[in-house]
Amino acid sequence: MALPSSLADAHAEELARFAELHPRSHELFERARGSLVSGVPMTWMAKWVGGHPVYAASAHGARVTDVDGHEYVDFALGDTGAMAGHSPPPTVAAVRRRLEGDGGATLMLPTEDAAWVGEELARRFGLPLWSFALTATDANRWALRLSRAVTGRPYVLVFNLCYHGSVDETFVTTEGSRPGNVGPPVDPTTTTRVAEFNDLDAVERLLADEQVACVLAEPALTNIGIVLPEPGFLEGLRAACDRTRTLLVADETHTFSAGPGGCTRAWGLSPDVVTIGKSIAGGIPIGAYGVSEALGARIEALEGADLIDVGGVGGTLAGNPLSLAAARATLDEVLTDDAFARMTELCDRFVAGVRGVLDTEGVPWSIVQLGARAELAFAPDPPRSGAESAALHDGPLEDFLHLFLLNRGVLITPFHNMALMSPATTEADVDLHTRTFAEAVRVLR
Ligand code: PMP
Repeated sequence: MALPSSLADAHAEELARFAELHPRSHELFERARGSLVSGVPMTWMAKWVGGHPVYAASAHGARVTDVDGHEYVDFALGDTGAMAGHSPPPTVAAVRRRLEGDGGATLMLPTEDAAWVGEELARRFGLPLWSFALTATDANRWALRLSRAVTGRPYVLVFNLCYHGSVDETFVTTEGSRPGNVGPPVDPTTTTRVAEFNDLDAVERLLADEQVACVLAEPALTNIGIVLPEPGFLEGLRAACDRTRTLLVADETHTFSAGPGGCTRAWGLSPDVVTIGKSIAGGIPIGAYGVSEALGARIEALEGADLIDVGGVGGTLAGNPLSLAAARATLDEVLTDDAFARMTELCDRFVAGVRGVLDTEGVPWSIVQLGARAELAFAPDPPRSGAESAALHDGPLEDFLHLFLLNRGVLITPFHNMALMSPATTEADVDLHTRTFAEAVRVLR
């Protein structure tokens, strides 16, 4: 592709354009540096290209407007937290009702919405019993604790270069502790075994001694680019877990994009636990984990495990009425079966648009789709493992593409090259991306 020097020139031009377009964001960033670590409310927000983040003024549906008055089509959608679109009206109405009408954002008492959401998640994912958290990270952390408690086994198995939130056990790669792991409490190789995604032999070998409590896996990796399972891999994983009486936890936080019941329903999977978060309450914080009947019984039969007070599973605001009111409205009226069908069609259009550009321009890249989500990979064939996907990473090229798109009103996820459709996304939004992506590729060529 582009020579490094020409890429650097093109990037410098985009940086100048960014600076010219965003004086107010720059001003707010300079101010925030006085009171916020790295000048941002959460350090990962420093990831945005351009030297500082764009400050948002408002966000509705699939659009964000910044403090300098620019409007963006948002394919980042809060890295899935806003997959329902920004401020979906039914969710907003439910939140208003909860806060202003019924009253009570957080109580020590359940509300009817909790049972409704449990029933709906059971219908979608096929697991009958649910508990709530505030983040997907916590849902995963508690799923791991419960898995260790019921099996009495010490280890967790994860896939190389996975991401499941800031869960200590998951910060390990086939090479050892994950580079950049911030202050790990213990060496994670003492808690965790790691296999490459799609390597069933490795999974079988690592489960053979029956010391692994659970496998924690996304049905398709989404945080190191998208890596889809090869035919038979997930079935083999389930069978290996069954043979060794290892629990299988499916983290559907991102793969929910595959359909109304995530990959679990779309592909007929049967995990023992599903964890999820981010999107199911329309942007209001929530996490959830669902367990099978059998596992639910084992959890309730645990002796000496403090599930009520200070035993390590639970959070004061978990299961709060506000989250659950928002989740009920979002699942009932926003992220519906029909909405998923439309989002997937839009993503088909997105993928076809990108493929058209790659074909026309003769660029040997590929794009992988998972329902409403798509991801560009800088190789003619999509990666088959986390390591393969990581090897395709190209920081300068990604930064250029992100900035070029942003400068022309298109946001994609700042981490790698992911785009997500919401129920509010339109064909015109998708076509704007296609046109702008084509322009970017032509500049590179
Ligand atoms: N699971 C997966 C698959 C994720 O991608 C993420 C976050 N990107 C999480 C869990 C954690 O979500 P949160 O940061 O909202 O806790």
